[in-house]
Amino acid sequence: MSVSGPDANLYVCGITPYDATHLGHAFTYVSFDMLVRTWRDGGLNVNYAQNITDIDDPLFERAEATNVNWRDLADSQIELFRTDMETLNVIPPNNWVAVSDVIEPLVAEVKELLADGRAYGLTEDGRTDYYIKTSDADYAAPHLKDIDLISVFRENGGDPDRAGKQHPLDPIIWKGVVGDDFQAEGARPGAWRPGWHIECALIGRDYLGNTVDIQGGGADLVFPHQEMSLLHMADFHPEVTVRGQMNTGMVAYEGHKMSKSLGNLVLVSKLLQRGFEPMVVRLALLGHMWDSDWEYTDEDLDRAERRLTRWRRANHTGGAGAEELLATVRARLADNLDTPGALDAIDEWADANEYNDDRDGAGLFRDMCQALLGVSLS
Ligand code: ZN
Repeated sequence: MSVSGPDANLYVCGITPYDATHLGHAFTYVSFDMLVRTWRDGGLNVNYAQNITDIDDPLFERAEATNVNWRDLADSQIELFRTDMETLNVIPPNNWVAVSDVIEPLVAEVKELLADGRAYGLTEDGRTDYYIKTSDADYAAPHLKDIDLISVFRENGGDPDRAGKQHPLDPIIWKGVVGDDFQAEGARPGAWRPGWHIECALIGRDYLGNTVDIQGGGADLVFPHQEMSLLHMADFHPEVTVRGQMNTGMVAYEGHKMSKSLGNLVLVSKLLQRGFEPMVVRLALLGHMWDSDWEYTDEDLDRAERRLTRWRRANHTGGAGAEELLATVRARLADNLDTPGALDAIDEWADANEYNDDRDGAGLFRDMCQALLGVSLS
């Protein structure tokens, strides 16, 4: 999509650090990396913010179940994710913001909403959970019309059935307040936490300014997370404009969407341990359209391996016609980030020009692979 000026602002929903990095994650972040690279190639300054939900229930539950300190678990998983991303040549966000670093502004935001009468609390066993009022929200956006909103909200950790809520879809903005203390018994995991949707809205506003060109994440976040983050934005940051959404397709394995609950995760680190080159993994991901759902099989890696070998060979002994190839690849990426089309065009060029030696062309080809596709040929 076109952006508003010399700067392109991107917000992508990040990980909860307790089970990084499976191919579904990698597909999401490599897809956004392609957006960043394409924007940069078009001369835009990209401001990219991503959150890390390092204070969240599933993380606490995992820490308790495995008998490790939750902070140690979060830190080790953040480090693993960062290393995996670096290995896959994913350009890091300019602002990679952990929720634990924005607790104070989040508390201030919630207090302001309460003071304005736009939020309310429900108290149970001496603890209060705060909700934002969404009574006026009609959730009528066309992309939501086929979704059973209440069921999906419930399946994704929402609590539509809680007694006393003003609207079943009101999301939590802070959980576990004791008296005036938002961080009561702070050392005890799960005693309190901010709401997930409000944290993305706040980080987007504070790190990107008033125009967010793209709000992105995996397609499983469309509802409730992306929608409720947008709602928070529109409600308490009316000065912020979100211009578009980009939600990446889901990756399945053995017949089902890759998910922690099913345990059918293919971890990037495990593939690397099995001896696959990082660039093979990246090419396997780029072989699928960012907005398609697809099922991973070993054939994805085999195909990517053959492809990388072919490209390297062409780079050693070919090179002629690289400028025309660059124009074709740019055209494919300009067309809805068509990475499969770009990769096919390179295959064709590599086959046709394997022995048409042109060292300048080979240099241009190598630079294009590195800069535009994030694929190192060395
Ligand atoms: Zn988010």
